[in-house]
Amino acid sequence: MKKNIAVIPGDGIGPEIVKEAVKVLKAIEKKYQHAFTYTEVCAGGCAIDKYGKSLPEESLQACLDSDSVLLGAVGGPKWDNVDPSIRPEKALLGIRKEMGLYANLRPAKIFPQLAAASPLRTDIVENGIDFMVVRELTGGVYFGEKKTYEVNGELYATDNMCYYEHEIKRIAHTAFQTARKRNHKVISVDKANVLDTSRLWRKVMHEVAKEYPDVELQDMLVDNTAMQIVKNPAQFDVIVTENMFGDILSDEASMITGSIGLIPSASLGESKRGMYEPIHGSAPDIAGQNIANPIGTILAAGMMLKYAFDMDEENAVIEKAVADVLSDGYRTGDIMEEGKTKLFCDEMGDKIVEYI
Ligand code: ATP
Ligand code: MG
Repeated sequence: MKKNIAVIPGDGIGPEIVKEAVKVLKAIEKKYQHAFTYTEVCAGGCAIDKYGKSLPEESLQACLDSDSVLLGAVGGPKWDNVDPSIRPEKALLGIRKEMGLYANLRPAKIFPQLAAASPLRTDIVENGIDFMVVRELTGGVYFGEKKTYEVNGELYATDNMCYYEHEIKRIAHTAFQTARKRNHKVISVDKANVLDTSRLWRKVMHEVAKEYPDVELQDMLVDNTAMQIVKNPAQFDVIVTENMFGDILSDEASMITGSIGLIPSASLGESKRGMYEPIHGSAPDIAGQNIANPIGTILAAGMMLKYAFDMDEENAVIEKAVADVLSDGYRTGDIMEEGKTKLFCDEMGDKIVEYI
């Protein structure tokens, strides 16, 4: 299969980890006789330095022309004081907006080899942690009208939480389709005992569910979900929720796995193409030292194969190679334990390629 991948190395450790992910994609290309082309795109802090803006038009166009975008990370203290309108992170918002990416997928998956890193009790971890948080990304309270007034001599602020039916419908489809690629179970998270947006959310979820008779749908209140994630994470397959609840729950879900360097994420829209990246930031404190963990980015490249290109087997091969490399005791510094073999960033990439 021919695919054009826009690659944004970005800032900090971004270029180092993206290089390893591209290495892995090339190994998959060879193994399965695909033909991927890689278009390197400049965005983020490095684009501010070079062009005076974080998302130059031609960078955006390259993303729009691609079949999917692979991103390392953008930002860092160097650009802390630039004008807010051109901040490095604005590049990602711009790409999301122009590509119409309204869903964020973040897996919470624990590698049994790294179970000790989880802050959860061993017996809970042993039941397995393997679920996906599907977060609505372009609506809700983060995008509603915001105001600060003065009322009777004191300040008063409001943030408006709002959702259209069509916004809920499309994220519902994303969730049910994701469940079809997994274990056919969706838990829809809301606060329907208090919020009108949640009552609409629940209604639409159940309507859309009728189109997916093979997927089970259950409702759960957000406060209970926050508890259940630490109490019994094994019960979850796909969690779908609105923007702010998803922001909070997806961080909680990542945290219980114990290793942020290993977690990928995807931003998706109506079409299958999207933007794929690790959940961690640009880690300026370790940039340029070849010690970053490239696994989150490598797994993000795997997600791209699975969700954008329907290459489920290719993704499974990458996931297995990562698991086997960990089983055989190879580690980067961030997940190093006694008695294991410590690898540099590029050595970890090479090792995963070798196992593929
Ligand atoms: P951002 O605001 O972009 O999310 P941040 O400062 O919140 O950035 P990260 O850049 O993710 O957070 O870094 C948090 C810590 O985790 C840092 O100490 C960093 O070195 C470490 N870290 C992040 N990613 C990796 C990685 N891939 N490998 C090793 N360590 C990492
Ligand atoms: Mg952060």
